[in-house]
Amino acid sequence: MSAIPTQSQPESGARERFHQRSLEHQRPLSTVTMAFTVVAFLCMLVARMLVNGPAAPLGYRLLCALVLALLVLAIPRARSTLSFGAIGVAYVLVLIGGIALNAVGVAQPLLWLLPALVVIPICAAPLWLTPAHFIAGSVLFYAAALALLLGNWPAHEVDAAVWTWVIAIGAPTSAVFHFGFYYFRRNHFLLESRLAQLAATDPLTGLQNRRAFVKHAEERLDTLAPGEYVSAIFLDLDNFKSLNDRFGHTVGDHALFQVGQVLLDAVLPRHSVSRIGGEEFAVLLDVDLDGALRLAERLRAGIAAIERPDGHLSASFGVAGHRRGESFMVLLDRADEALLRAKHAGRNRVCAERAPAPGAPLSPLDHVFALRDAGVGRSTARYRWDDMQLISHFQPLYSLSHQKQVGFEALLRGEHDDGTMVPPMVMFAPSSNDEGALDRASHAVHLGNARHLLPGDAWLFLNILPSTFIAKGYADQLTKVVRAVGLEPERVVLEILESHGGSVDDMSRAAERYRRHGFLIAVDDFGAGQSNLDRLLRIRPDLVKLDGELIRATTHGTCQPILPKLVSLLHQAGMLVVVEGVETTEELILAVESNVDFAQGYLLGRPAREIASPESARRQIDEAFDVIAQGRARQHALFESEVEPYRRELRGAAEALRAGVPVDEAFATLAGFGRSISCFILDDTGRQIGHEVRGPAWSEDVASLQPVANPRDARWDHRPYFRNAVLRPGDAIASNPYLSLASGRPCIAVTLAAQLASGRCVIGVELDWSAQGLPWPASE
Ligand code: GH3
Ligand code: MG
Ligand code: MG
Repeated sequence: MSAIPTQSQPESGARERFHQRSLEHQRPLSTVTMAFTVVAFLCMLVARMLVNGPAAPLGYRLLCALVLALLVLAIPRARSTLSFGAIGVAYVLVLIGGIALNAVGVAQPLLWLLPALVVIPICAAPLWLTPAHFIAGSVLFYAAALALLLGNWPAHEVDAAVWTWVIAIGAPTSAVFHFGFYYFRRNHFLLESRLAQLAATDPLTGLQNRRAFVKHAEERLDTLAPGEYVSAIFLDLDNFKSLNDRFGHTVGDHALFQVGQVLLDAVLPRHSVSRIGGEEFAVLLDVDLDGALRLAERLRAGIAAIERPDGHLSASFGVAGHRRGESFMVLLDRADEALLRAKHAGRNRVCAERAPAPGAPLSPLDHVFALRDAGVGRSTARYRWDDMQLISHFQPLYSLSHQKQVGFEALLRGEHDDGTMVPPMVMFAPSSNDEGALDRASHAVHLGNARHLLPGDAWLFLNILPSTFIAKGYADQLTKVVRAVGLEPERVVLEILESHGGSVDDMSRAAERYRRHGFLIAVDDFGAGQSNLDRLLRIRPDLVKLDGELIRATTHGTCQPILPKLVSLLHQAGMLVVVEGVETTEELILAVESNVDFAQGYLLGRPAREIASPESARRQIDEAFDVIAQGRARQHALFESEVEPYRRELRGAAEALRAGVPVDEAFATLAGFGRSISCFILDDTGRQIGHEVRGPAWSEDVASLQPVANPRDARWDHRPYFRNAVLRPGDAIASNPYLSLASGRPCIAVTLAAQLASGRCVIGVELDWSAQGLPWPASE
């Protein structure tokens, strides 16, 4: 087991990849350094203007600066090592030329030139990508510098001194810099390549591991041209556990290695072979299904020839051909399904994927593509599924404030050939179909239909099972289909169904993927079954669909609807709210009153093949708004008349307290009113002063809340009834209903801030508001 066969890239490409990688690494550094030199050159130009004497024309020197700047801008666009090197050479030469022009006419040109000639090669050294670039660039630089020195001044010992400096300091330092950087980059590259190879390789067999295989396969499918084939072979060794159990893991490992060799020997180098799990292997080929079946048969025979201590190895094979538009994982799933059949049929054999059902020659996705390609007009897209046709019905969703249709939920229906509908119970019965496949097929059918039915500015709501939602590759696949039918993902809302499977982590990661493609996410049926707040906050949907039952749900005791509070909570969490199942006018009114954003239900529109006119629903919503406006005014009047006697008497009590009347006496009348639980005085920190004066509604039998039953232990300045009273001193304020800790029942408080002898206080009375039929304040 010494020579490990690998599927790594050939070594010949390594040099090319290294240069490409160097280019990526050096690009930012080069851009900054060279841009910096342009600035330095401009500074030199300004300095030269301050010196008297005849100078070379300014235009020439500015032109040099311009060329240098253009070369800097060319760096990010350089694609090959060679063009990158050429930019470097041109840059160095233009720089020298510019400096020479700048030095013309000065009394001591050497003083101007010397620093630049020493610094330029040193600064440029790390920028050369290869030693060849470095040598070529440096030779050209020194040649130009020499011409400059010799051309301008007659030879004497100063030239010799200058050259000694330029060569002695510039050349060795730039060489050290260049090679230092070069070897650092190279080692880094080798390490990086080695790590990448290790991360992609199965150590036991040297084949690609699962991650590398899947990545490679997905890339292959992404670049698949029309007319090209891809097939997958999935194999699993037979009775492998018994080999380990009887002869030990070393024997098992060796057998795995031998299988890897057989696979590698049999396939072409351009095909990929992977050990994707324990004793499972997969091959990706660019041949059609028949070709893949033939190869699988050869592989089967090859493996069956490997000896094991008690006979021969064998493996079972599943083979599947890629269908247009489908993701790699779906392809692998079909091969896996065929493999399972091979196992059940007795092992050591090859099974092909199941042929599509008769009458359905295309996969659902192919079906959509075919409809599009055939330019099928406004006829309804249908898709054959077992003994029925799948069709789409659309149910409208209305924005309540806008009173218009904002979207349509696509619902799957089945129709027998004689035109009768398949009952949903039969269609979605868990055992009758592969649920995931039906789910994916439904998306294709709906998108095929929405293509010509969906109004221009409406959303399409697609139901999706959690298992489909998290399936690898499905986000990409669905995006392709959406685009193929001429929609944008931004127009599609994925409604994650409330059912089976999918950990919250998987769901939130998947939601992120779909969001990146542009899809909107909704959580369906919130409030039923598996749904909980944690799931919601982690998935962070754009919309939440509330289970119809929640419209009808009321609080225990007061029978107040809980919908308004729930909606306000979801709004605070940044989610829009849809209520489903609106069937009666009362429910619609409640939905409007609760500030729900969108509503859907039989009252507003039934699911239908065609998209219904919005007129009657618009009128219904408008009427609901009118009813609420009237109702709100009536509620307000009723509530005020109920609370008014308490307000009046509270003001009286405040007067009495200010006049020094003892507490019991001051509160006597108020505490005698029917709904009074207790009258109290709070100091300016919200702590109760003295004892409360109990009224007829006070109740001792509140055992469940006993630990918090004593109001004297607590601070109440955080309560709205305290804060509002302090904000409007002298006014008797009635609060919204809240749950009393003392009684465990809904209460309201009437409070008033007053200046008493003991200081600023809030005096108040707590009223039992739990009786049915009491008016509630119309405000929230
Ligand atoms: P079947 O024909 O139904 O596939 O039977 P099986 O025994 O092959 O099936 P099963 O999947 O139960 O057993 C797979 C075994 O592969 C279990 C495990 O001991 C073994 N295995 C997984 N990875 C390795 C490995 O890296 N080395 C060795 N030696 N054995 C492994
Ligand atoms: Mg096995
Ligand atoms: Mg197995």
